Amino acid sequence: MALSSGRWFQAPYSNILVVLTVCAARIEWQSTMTAKQTSRRNFLAASSLAAVGFAAPRLWKPPFNPPGERLFLQEFKYSDVTFDTGLHDEQLQRNISVLMGLSDDSLLKPLRAMSGQPAPGEELGGWYLYDPNFDGSAPGWAGFAPACTFGQWVSALARAYAIHRDEKVREKVLRLNQLYAKTISGDFYENNRFPAYCYDKLVCGLMDSHRLAGDPDAYRILEHTTDIALPHLPGKAIEHGRNWRPGKDASYSQDESYTISENLFLAFQRGAGKRYKTLGTQYLDDEYFNPLAEGRSNFAGRHAYSHVNALCSAMQAYMTIGSTKHLNAATNAFDFLTAQSFATGGWGPDEVLRAPDSNDVYESLTNSHSSFETPCGSYAHFKLTRYLLRVTRDTRYGDSMERVMYNTVLGAKPLQADGSTFYYSDYHFKGRKVYSDRRWACCSGTLPQVAADYRINAYFHEPQGGVYVNLYIPSRVRWIQDGAHVSLRQRTSYPFESHIEFDVTASRARDFTLNLRIPGWAEGAAISVNGKRVESDVKAGSFKAVRREWKTGDHLGLELPLTKRLEAIDARHPNTVALLCGPLVLFAITNARPVVTREQLLSATKAGERSWRAATSGAPLKLLPFTSIADEEYSTYLVTS
Ligand SMILES: [Zn+2]
Repeated sequence: MALSSGRWFQAPYSNILVVLTVCAARIEWQSTMTAKQTSRRNFLAASSLAAVGFAAPRLWKPPFNPPGERLFLQEFKYSDVTFDTGLHDEQLQRNISVLMGLSDDSLLKPLRAMSGQPAPGEELGGWYLYDPNFDGSAPGWAGFAPACTFGQWVSALARAYAIHRDEKVREKVLRLNQLYAKTISGDFYENNRFPAYCYDKLVCGLMDSHRLAGDPDAYRILEHTTDIALPHLPGKAIEHGRNWRPGKDASYSQDESYTISENLFLAFQRGAGKRYKTLGTQYLDDEYFNPLAEGRSNFAGRHAYSHVNALCSAMQAYMTIGSTKHLNAATNAFDFLTAQSFATGGWGPDEVLRAPDSNDVYESLTNSHSSFETPCGSYAHFKLTRYLLRVTRDTRYGDSMERVMYNTVLGAKPLQADGSTFYYSDYHFKGRKVYSDRRWACCSGTLPQVAADYRINAYFHEPQGGVYVNLYIPSRVRWIQDGAHVSLRQRTSYPFESHIEFDVTASRARDFTLNLRIPGWAEGAAISVNGKRVESDVKAGSFKAVRREWKTGDHLGLELPLTKRLEAIDARHPNTVALLCGPLVLFAITNARPVVTREQLLSATKAGERSWRAATSGAPLKLLPFTSIADEEYSTYLVTS
């Protein structure tokens, strides 16, 4: 939402919103169920909750039997995957350290103030601040969304604890939940522009506290939260921009109740109670989903991030209550979204989805620097593609996830202790990577969650065995296969190099299938096992299954040719192109409009470990991936001569 006007209510879309959270969920109870059924199931995640000392019998009742659940790919637990990669881990560490540095009183301050309680401690300021006289005139919209990121930050800390087991992080999660519980009141929602948004994030934070940090009070606090919040919510999905609250001004019309079903369904799945399934169903936004399910796009003019996030609710409607209508809505919508995405995988310039035949995305290259709401958009995109991949096993969703990861959020500037937040990626011909003036904006809530979730995006498994490698990242995943402890280590400099190596360690030899994502662009991919080329077809755009008896010392090699290609901004402008190399967009580091041909771009060569160079009619053009850009001016698209 561009703040081009000084009057906040003239902005067409607010952005705050939404988030969603979470998802990773299902995996934890799945793992738990499996842990209890070891004798009957032959596959389970390696590190059971019992191993970390949680009160498993109390926390982990098998809560429900979703339709088709046994058919979906399963997520690994956060702790089953370790990363050996600077880029991903540094993003997590830096964001979590900022959250750990925020004082409890500061975090609770708007919650207490909105509930009429004493609120000691320093203001965080920015969007997090509660200002009862907010009128949109303060710089950076200070006071716009008080406490809206609280639940997301608790969620991110719980996920970080699940990864690194830092007891200080767990203690902070439990402490914040106890302090929050004392603030629960209807006044918080009455004084809030975003009651459904805040409720949604609180549900997420408490769910994650329960399943990832073992907070024994989390579901009790969630129940109280729900009891208090419901009378202050609209009772059904209300679209963005509609004022459902008598006596409130237009700033109260931008809540995102149409996104909350996902976390409600997940709360049901994770044992919070049947009411959450009822609520999840109640808040499904059929005004949005019905045309999509019939293959008609109704994207035009809708707020981008929150409506992509809402598609996660559609997926959970399928995964929880078996609604094929909602699966159809999500799959069709993903195709509509892809068709209007930038080459980076980002979408929604100025936070608006566009009509299918629109010229808007092309025009945004010259009229907007607010090209993609990156942390929130990525968060929604990763959840959506994760659900779609789990349900369909279609590599397109993994390809899309990879593209968004490398070309957008992995290159986001880190959250700063003063609330400086990376908000928009900039695909303007004169682009720059900058912090937003909106301190503690919505994207400060999603970025730490995104950074934690790379692990659960990287690998999946079949309910009965068989592992899927979705992302090629230096890492290790561990599981138990038919009673044997198995570890798969991945070594690579991909996507900067084309080769990926896997080493198997197994306490006993076991027969299982490794499924490797062969990206749609990877024509000519090849696989070898123990140095011997696998002769069967390795098809781009599919998972290649390699089944054998695996034992310690087995080695698998994967070669993904990093093909270069040009992608036009749209069919009407075939000469306005982005250069890709494998999954990477190569951004032109330039403050001019270089005169360059398609052939010159496609002939770009490596100029360093993570840089490329292309000839032009003038000086050579430097090209960098998004993760290597600092403050220099760049252009995502070039107009070829
Ligand atoms: Zn955001």
